[in-house]
Amino acid sequence: MPKKTIEQLDVKGRRIFVRADFNVPQDDKGRITDDRRIQGTLPTIRSVLSRGGCVVAASHLGRPEGKGFEGEFSMAPVAVRLRELLGEDASAVRLVGKLPTDVDAAAAAAVLKPGEVLVLENLRFEKGEKKGDATFAGKLAAYADAYCNDAFGASHRNDASMLALPSAMKPKPCVTGLLLARELKFLGETIAHPPRPFVAILGGAKVSDKLPALHHLIGRVDMILIGGAMAYTFLLAQGKSIGRSLVQRDLVEQARAMLEEAPRKGTRLVLPVDHVCGQSLEDNVPTEVHAEVPDEWIGLDIGPASRTVFAAEIAKACLVVWNGPAGAFEVKPFDAGTVALARAVAAATNAGATTIAGGGDTAAAVEVAGLASALTHISTGGGASLEMLEGKVFDSLGPLDEA
Ligand code: AMP
Repeated sequence: MPKKTIEQLDVKGRRIFVRADFNVPQDDKGRITDDRRIQGTLPTIRSVLSRGGCVVAASHLGRPEGKGFEGEFSMAPVAVRLRELLGEDASAVRLVGKLPTDVDAAAAAAVLKPGEVLVLENLRFEKGEKKGDATFAGKLAAYADAYCNDAFGASHRNDASMLALPSAMKPKPCVTGLLLARELKFLGETIAHPPRPFVAILGGAKVSDKLPALHHLIGRVDMILIGGAMAYTFLLAQGKSIGRSLVQRDLVEQARAMLEEAPRKGTRLVLPVDHVCGQSLEDNVPTEVHAEVPDEWIGLDIGPASRTVFAAEIAKACLVVWNGPAGAFEVKPFDAGTVALARAVAAATNAGATTIAGGGDTAAAVEVAGLASALTHISTGGGASLEMLEGKVFDSLGPLDEA
C-alpha cells in the first residue's frame, strides 16, 4: 500500500516534525562540501511552510558519541545552509538548544509559528536515538502535531526518531515526505512491478556487500551486468586469470553457484570481456587492455569491448537499476568505463527507459560525468538503496499512515 504523503495532509496551523537526512559531508573546517541531502528535503519543508504550517526539522550528523553536545557534530552549519536555501520561503530558521530535548528546544517548539523552521541539534547527541529509546522519542513527540519521515538515507535503521517516534506520536498523523515518497516509488514499486526488459548493473569493490542484492535480483531481472572489482570473483569462478585484481577468494564457490543458478531462473549474468589493467592504482599510470588480466597486472576498469556489450544491453532495457561503479573511477583513466555506462544509461533514459542509480559512489560517478539530471532517479541513500535492492522491508515505514 502506498503511504500517505505530506501533500495529502492538512498542515495549516500545525507543527510538523520532519525527520530529515541532513547527514552531509563536511571538510575539516566544518564547511559543507555537498548539500544535496539538505536540498533533497526542501520540497517537503516548502510544502509545509507554503500551506501555513511550521516545521521542526531534525537529523543525525556524523558519529558523535551520544554523551551530549559535541561542537564538531553540531547542526549549526546545516541550519545556516537551510536558511540560505529557503530564503524568503521561511519567516525564520533557528537552531535552538544544545540537545534535541533540552528545555530551550522544547520551549522553542512550543511557540513555533506558521512559516517558521526550528532545527534541533544532532539527534545522536542523545544516546536514546541510536538505542531506539521510547522515552527519548516521547519527548520529541510532544514537539509537533504530525510526523513526517523524509530521511530515506536512514530508513533502514531503527533509530528512535525513525521508529519509536512515529509510534509515540500516534494517533497524530504520520506521513512520508516527498523525497522518501519518490525513493519508495522508484526503489520499491517500480522494481516490484518492473517494465521489461529489466537490467541491473552491479559494480563496486566488494562482492560480499552485493551478494544479498544479487540473490534477490536473480530470477527477478532479465539481466545483471557485473562490473567493478566484484567481477573478478566471478571471472575466477569461470577459471579466468585475474592477475592481482581485487578478489574475494572465499566467495568464489558462491559466485560459481550463482553463475549456474541465474540462467535456470531466467536471469543472464553478463561479465566484462576485457579490462583496463594497471600495475598500481595511481593517477595516469601506464595501462593495457586485456581480455584476461595478466599476472602482475590489476584489472581496474571494464575495457572498451565490455563497454560496448554493456551499452548494447542497456539500450534494450525498459528499466535499469544501477548500483556500484564499473571501475576504480576516482582515479583517472579508470573512470572511463563508469562514465561510458553513465552515458549509456542516460541515452536509455532519453529513449524512454526508467533509470535508477543508487549508492553514494554511483551517484557521485554520475555527477562527475555531468549526467545527474539525465537519469530518472538518483537515490540519496547509499545503504538504504542497496537494502531496497535486497528486497528488505524497513520497520521504520510500518508506523506511517497508508494513503
Ligand atoms: P563499493 O563500496 O563496494 O560500491 O565499491 C566502490 C569502490 O569500488 C570505489 O571506490 C571504486 O574505486 C572501487 N572499485 C571499483 N572497481 C574496482 C577495481 N576494478 N579495482 C579496485 N577498486 C575498484
